This record gives sequence, structure tokens and C-alpha cells, in this order.
Amino acid sequence: MFDAAVIGAGPAGSSAARLLAQAGWRVALIEKAEFPRRKVCGEFISATTMPVLESCGVAGQFLAAAGPPVTRIGLYAGNALLADPRDRMWGRALGRERLDVMLRDVAVAAGAQLFQPAELTAVTRTAQGHLCILEDGREIAARTIIAACGSWNAKGLFAVPAGEAKASDLFAFKAHFIDGKLPPGLMPLLAFPGGYGGLVQTDAGRISLSCCIRRDALSRARQRHGGRAAEAVLAHILETTRGARDALGNATLQGGFLSVGPIHPGIRPRQRDGIYFTGNSVGEAHPVIAEGISMAIQSSGLLARLLIAERGEAYAKEWKHRFAPRIRAASVFAHLAMRGPARAASLAIIRRAPAILGWGARLSGKAPISA
Ligand SMILES: Cc1cc2nc3c(=O)[nH]c(=O)nc-3n(C[C@H](O)[C@H](O)[C@H](O)COP(=O)(O)OP(=O)(O)OC[C@H]3O[C@@H](n4cnc5c(N)ncnc54)[C@H](O)[C@@H]3O)c2cc1C
Repeated sequence: MFDAAVIGAGPAGSSAARLLAQAGWRVALIEKAEFPRRKVCGEFISATTMPVLESCGVAGQFLAAAGPPVTRIGLYAGNALLADPRDRMWGRALGRERLDVMLRDVAVAAGAQLFQPAELTAVTRTAQGHLCILEDGREIAARTIIAACGSWNAKGLFAVPAGEAKASDLFAFKAHFIDGKLPPGLMPLLAFPGGYGGLVQTDAGRISLSCCIRRDALSRARQRHGGRAAEAVLAHILETTRGARDALGNATLQGGFLSVGPIHPGIRPRQRDGIYFTGNSVGEAHPVIAEGISMAIQSSGLLARLLIAERGEAYAKEWKHRFAPRIRAASVFAHLAMRGPARAASLAIIRRAPAILGWGARLSGKAPISA
């Protein structure tokens, strides 16, 4: 019998598993995918997460592998190339194929027992706790379940409602490029018709492009540019956004596009039937703020601290206090970036006072260190 079964070895799951194992809990860490694996994600990791990486003992490894420091927040929209004039250290980017392995390995080194690849398909209640049923028929008994399975395919724990297809549904895309040109230290947000995205210099000299686009804008882009969805989205961004053209116009795509969707930003239940939810499973911010990894790690830190102190009942309230405002701020920023009139009005303001970009980054939870 394990004290906790953690479902998912992304940033949230590995962080929860490590902290509980370090506190002496018997932990099963259950991950369905083989690692290393790429993931639809911008890969930016906020400086606020550095203390956690230090406490995991992976800060040195992270700094050695990650891309250069991000020192300025920018905005590329139409022909506008704007940037917060002040240089500060906002964070760095590292491919998920490397970050997730690092975080999983420290959880295992702390004593968590890894089941990978192993997909959870059902959970049943027992007198002592829960029984996790894996796809291959194995059963794992645990007193507590921590659902850290992201937004997708959380079989046995929750189902994201399929619902009717809506024009506003968001689809996410991600790709790496080499030989691109991004001004040193700049991480520009891309605001383009029907969507938003981001560019950042990540590890190994690569530029990471990640973006979300509404269903109706995606369909228009496909009609206009043809080809596969990801190719049409890239063509749409390059056509409408000068900064993206400057950065990626002559760059080479590396490793192909990844896509997911529709994504479901928002807040979900924090706790149900003795199951605790963390990371994207509990709350997903619009990726416009590039804070999901930090929030995943931080929400697991909060949950583990409360569970160790036998105060699990306080989790729902404390989570809401710490993370709900960031999720709401992300939603406002996403709509400002995507909607034509709102985008034009925001641009006019940011042109006059580009330092607003740094202020917006702080509102989304980023806290820079002096560069
Ligand atoms: C376009 C886009 C760009 C983004 N850019 C950034 C960014 O730059 N910076 C940032 O901080 N965040 C970004 N994010 C958000 C970030 O990717 C997520 O917030 C983060 O991955 C959440 O971590 P997590 O551990 O909660 O979930 P995940 O990383 O999704 O991990 C969940 C894990 O659970 C596993 N799993 C799922 N179901 C099961 C099951 N039934 N059994 C076993 N295992 C299971 C999955 O395989 C996965 O490994 C972006 C997101 C998108 C869509």
C-alpha cells in the first residue's frame, strides 16, 4: 500500500512525488508516456521557479542546459515590434523533453517508485483508500491520489467535456526552429488575428514557437494557405506578424509541429472523493502568460506541504487564493491579444508606455530578478 499515487510525471506530478517522498511518504509515480517526449509548450520557465529547482538539486543542471536568460518582455502584433525598455532577468526556456526527465529523475532519487509507461484507466474507492487500475491490468493501492495528469486524457479521474464545437475553441501548436533571428534576451508575445503565441530562445540554439488559434481563424487560415493545419497556422502568423517574419522567415523547422486541442483554460475542482488535483488538472491558465509550468510546480508544492502537515482540507481555499487571480489575468490578456478592436486599443496604449509589458508580466505571476 502506497501513501500516495501520483498520476502523471509532468512538472506537477514529479514535484509532488519528490516532496512527499522526501518527507518519508511511500509514493507511486504513474506516467503513461515514454520519456523523453516533446510537448506542446512554449518552454519558458519563470525565475520564480528557480528556488524550487534549487531545492530539487537540479538548478545547476537546468542552468547548464537551458537557453539564455530572457531579459525583456516584448509584443509583436501586425507591424508593431514593442518591448519593455528595462532589462531584468525574467527566466529561461528549456525543452520539455529535457525538463520533465530532470524533474522525474529527482522524484525517483528521492524515493518515489516509478511506473512508466503505465496509464491509469480507473480509480475505485476501498476501505483504506483507493485502488488505481492500470491499462495493463496492474493494480496499485494508495491511501491518497494526486491527479497531476494535465488537461488531457485523464482517464479514470476526470473527463474534459467534449461539448459542441464552437468558433472560439482554441487549438494549440508548437515547433522548434534553428537559424532564426530573435533579438538577444527578448521574449515576444505574438498577437495575431484570431490567436496569440510566443517566441523564445530555448536550449541548443533553438527558437520555440508556441501558439493558440481559434477554430474559426484556423479554418480561415487553412482556406487561405492550404496545407496541413500547422503549416497554415505558421503561414498565417508569418503573413500577419512582422516580428515573427523577421525571426522565423529564414529559419528551419526542426522536429516537426505538435498540436493539441481544443484546450480548456479555466479552474476545475481542487479535491473530490479523497483525490487531490494539481497542475493543469486543477487550473489551466491561457498560455499567453507562459506560467503553466511554474504554476504546476508551485501548486504541487502547496499541496505537498499541506498533505505533509495533515491539512489537506485547506488546499482548495489556499489554491484559489494563490492561483485563481493569475488564471483570470491570463484570460483577460488572451482576449485582449485575440480580438481585433481590443488588440488595437491595447497596442495604442503599449506603444505609448511599453513598460506596461513588464507590469503585465508581473500581474501574471512573474517576478524578475535584477539582470
Ligand atoms: C501553446 C502552449 C504554450 C505554453 N507555453 C508555456 C510556457 O512557455 N511556459 C509555461 O510555464 N507553461 C506553458 N504552457 C503550459 C504548460 O505546458 C502546462 O501548464 C504544464 O505542462 C502543466 O504541467 P502539468 O504537470 O500539470 O501537466 P502536463 O505537463 O500535461 O503533465 C501531465 C502528465 O500526465 C500524464 N498522464 C495523463 N493522463 C495520464 C494517465 N491516465 N495515466 C498516467 N499518466 C497520465 C501525461 O502523459 C503527462 O506526462 C503552455 C501551454 C500551451 C498549450
